Amino acid sequence: MRYHARDVALVRAKRLNIPVVLGSATPALESWHNATGSQSPPNKYSLLSLNQRAVTAAQLPRIDCIDTTKVHLQQGLTPQLIVALRLRLARKEQSLLFINRRGYSPVLLCSACHWIAPCTRCSSKLVVHLGQKRLRCHHCGHEQRMPQQCPSCGNADLHPTGHGTQRLEQTLAQLLPTARIARVDRDSTSRKHALVEILDKVHSQEIDILVGTQMLAKGHDFPNLTLVGVIDTDSALHSPDFRASERLFAQLMQVAGRAGRADKAGQVIIQTQFPEHVLFNALRSQDYVSYANTMLQEREQVQFPPYVFTALLRAEANDYTLAQQFLNHAFNLARGFNNEVMVYDPVRPQMERLKGMERGHVLMQASHRPALQQLLKNLVSQLRGQPIAAKVRWAIDVNPLEF
Ligand SMILES: [Zn+2]
Ligand SMILES: [Zn+2]
Repeated sequence: MRYHARDVALVRAKRLNIPVVLGSATPALESWHNATGSQSPPNKYSLLSLNQRAVTAAQLPRIDCIDTTKVHLQQGLTPQLIVALRLRLARKEQSLLFINRRGYSPVLLCSACHWIAPCTRCSSKLVVHLGQKRLRCHHCGHEQRMPQQCPSCGNADLHPTGHGTQRLEQTLAQLLPTARIARVDRDSTSRKHALVEILDKVHSQEIDILVGTQMLAKGHDFPNLTLVGVIDTDSALHSPDFRASERLFAQLMQVAGRAGRADKAGQVIIQTQFPEHVLFNALRSQDYVSYANTMLQEREQVQFPPYVFTALLRAEANDYTLAQQFLNHAFNLARGFNNEVMVYDPVRPQMERLKGMERGHVLMQASHRPALQQLLKNLVSQLRGQPIAAKVRWAIDVNPLEF
């Protein structure tokens, strides 16, 4: 069984009778609910608020959302962001551009037949790494040479489409030739000490612009960094994963916190097609509390966690019929145990194939935790003896974070 590390910490602390401090500027909604919710029994956690930023002189950054449908983009950058970058260069201040996608571009597209280079082992697209002229799958690590022509129609006109960290770095070098630029992502920091060396250069003012993924969002304090630009986060606003907007809000709060930490006021520029989205409104006022409460109301209305308890039985096999057979069997067993737990039909996740394995799952949901735990206990002990259980790879994920 798989458990959330936070929940394991809480259980261990309870057994040892020691307190646990969960510290965050953007607590998980489950934790926020436990600290403030009006559920019975009354609040499980006690809430301790820090109402001041760590550096007392620091000011909150100004947050502007630029509507990308209303301006002409230059290689994915809005004129407003380019002007703001030039201003920082002139003032000898630093900037950070946040884009949560490494590589050069997320897909390689054929302009004639719209073929897109796929991963043969996963239901995903291969990412273009232009420097090495290679295509890589960021899910399974598969990699291959970039084809010279479209394998589907023979056309030689293949386009890297969309933006990743490498392309953004290249664009900035063209637009701002005097700027000293560093890129921070898993590719640029794979060498030992590489990240520390880059961060040292930022501190000694040898870098003007940092381009990077979420690796840059947490923990670093750069006193001379006054501009944060956020590129292309819109996919998370409309994701089928109900936790995507919670994660995006936390990430943007953290990344916005990089701007203007010392005595200099910071500015955050977010490029989006949806500048009036409720998430950005809450972010502009740096109002975690109102956003958390809004999201909790929505979750309560549709009966999502933390208002219900969930577990996922995941199964994968080389051949989906085996996984399906196993899941159907588990589904029938689970439905027979008790009627307090809602057991959903076996379905395939968004990523149907991963690392050459065909995947499926059964979702179980209850408004009462002990009922779910009892069911899982019975289910696991019965499944273990089944011959079909030996033919698939399976696991139970309690409070799954991803589907
Ligand atoms: Zn083609
Ligand atoms: Zn793959």
